[in-house]
Amino acid sequence: MIAYPDRAELALLPTPLGKLERLGAQLGREIFCKRDDLTGSTLSGNKVRKLEFLFADAIAQGCDTVLTCGGEQSNHCRATAFAATQLGLACQLFLRTENPAAPPAAQANILLDHLAGAKITWVSRPEYQRRQELFAARVAELRRAGKKPYVIPEGGSNSLGSWGYVRCVEELTKQLPAHEPATLVYAAGSGGTGAGLIVGQKLFAPAWRVVGINVCDDHAYFERVIGEIVEDMVARYKLTLPFSRSEIELIDGYVGRGYAQSRPEELRDLISLSQLEGITLDPVYTGKAYFGMRRELEKNADAFGKRIVFLHTGGLFGLFAKAPELAALFS
Ligand SMILES: *Cc1c(COP(=O)(O)O)cnc(C)c1O
Repeated sequence: MIAYPDRAELALLPTPLGKLERLGAQLGREIFCKRDDLTGSTLSGNKVRKLEFLFADAIAQGCDTVLTCGGEQSNHCRATAFAATQLGLACQLFLRTENPAAPPAAQANILLDHLAGAKITWVSRPEYQRRQELFAARVAELRRAGKKPYVIPEGGSNSLGSWGYVRCVEELTKQLPAHEPATLVYAAGSGGTGAGLIVGQKLFAPAWRVVGINVCDDHAYFERVIGEIVEDMVARYKLTLPFSRSEIELIDGYVGRGYAQSRPEELRDLISLSQLEGITLDPVYTGKAYFGMRRELEKNADAFGKRIVFLHTGGLFGLFAKAPELAALFS
């Protein structure tokens, strides 16, 4: 038995594990999809699993306002905004955009941030780099106003939020045998999902492999970020598990045009899976991870073994921010 930190109930769990029969027949593998796009409606995606632990901590500390940050179409910020409102807390978001003086239209995730009642502050790329200072200034301001702020890091990715993906692996062991080989393939963005999956695999599923496909930055960056979170979890929660950063499996090479920028070939793969299996991915994370997984399988059909579990981490609202690019591919 693992002693998990306290958790607020926000996600619809367990999420289903679907078998992709037609894709599997095409590729000669057994391919499953872990449907974490179904963790909720406005809360959907992977972030809500991390937020369950982070909000429990915020509430235990008596906080009344959460602050977090992300890109302009951040799924994490949208999920945080709804989680806060559902739990009766206020939410303030720092969203990164090209030109804060002319912020993007209220569409897709941004529209939802407004619907959840979040206060949005638009910040430039250089300001976002210094986000710790922005958080510190806002925290001081809120405290002066008698509020109790709680800062959630980018993506909810720290040693507490990542427990959400330890729990996801435990959940998966009730859906697939943990003593038979399987490879979990996921999209890496801020590292918390990867860190939780790695710890969960070590605790619950010795025969499994965990492979990340990064959608931004590079291999060295993710080895450091994921490594730091796993090491923090081991130290802070006194886990007895052997870990070295060199064990982190990452496939670099599928960032493409850059974070949240799509190539037509990525969108074409996303459309083809949608039409083959009736499962739609998002353009920023899962679409890129799926594109990468397919290219790797073309190079080596056995790259991930016979049984693959593709983690659908959600992000569907991001499709609506790419409607023109997608529509162009249907004509
Ligand atoms: C944030 C996000 C990811 C990446 O998860 P991290 O824990 O940040 O690495 C993957 N998919 C979607 C849809 C996301 O929103």
